Amino acid sequence: MKFFETRHLTKHFGGLTAVNDINFEVEKGEIYGLIGPNGSGKTTLFNLITGYHPSSSGEILFQGQPIHRLSTWKICKLGIGRTFQIAKPLRRMTVLENVMTSAFNRAPKKSEAMEKAMEVLEFCELASKKDNSAKGLTIGDRKRLEIARALATAPELLLLDETMAGLTPQEQTAGAELIRKIRDSGITIIIVEHIMHVIMNICDRLLCINYGQEIARGTPAEVANNQAVIEAYLGK
Ligand code: ADP
Repeated sequence: MKFFETRHLTKHFGGLTAVNDINFEVEKGEIYGLIGPNGSGKTTLFNLITGYHPSSSGEILFQGQPIHRLSTWKICKLGIGRTFQIAKPLRRMTVLENVMTSAFNRAPKKSEAMEKAMEVLEFCELASKKDNSAKGLTIGDRKRLEIARALATAPELLLLDETMAGLTPQEQTAGAELIRKIRDSGITIIIVEHIMHVIMNICDRLLCINYGQEIARGTPAEVANNQAVIEAYLGK
């Protein structure tokens, strides 16, 4: 049984095919990168995997189970968590309250949700800021909070959407360390990221898409040297 795979996954928005016959599989324990120029369909792919958009055709299988007709809530319960490209913490709440809101998805009792939230905040090195208002956080901490909220849903597969955008080089290094630490804790990761040196460093394998279609896949070195990838990024 494959840990995660898509088969002929396709999404049309009216006349636009945002995701076009995408087939890829992710092995348990790897960090799998999804790259492509702006508008190539990466976020739409995440939205299909997590049930935010229904697919037009094709299948998504998680641990052998078809999930492409399930609700976002059921998909979350099965163990797929995600972050969003634009981190939107609940600004009036504290850091801890934000993470607890997510933890309630998997731990209905308040004491359990609190325990899970604290565990995740320690893991993400945000515990010292647990009582801070989410509103006042730096971009770096806001991105960490976004990851913490996704981790609080206790995922086995975590989808990270541009968690490095806007970070300083030091914050990027710390962010990459956190992602490796998440993987080392047993969580499989699919990551969308524009900062190439980060993605090339942390991913085991990559899929590159353009106009919704696969143009290359392989190890970071293979993908980086692929002519179709170079042309897609140079806009030829
Ligand atoms: P990426 O994440 O790679 O930048 P997206 O998945 O956001 O790309 O977008 C892929 C294409 O689908 C773009 O042309 C975008 O305009 C279009 N698109 C995305 N979401 C919608 C939507 N909800 N309705 C219509 N078109 C959409």
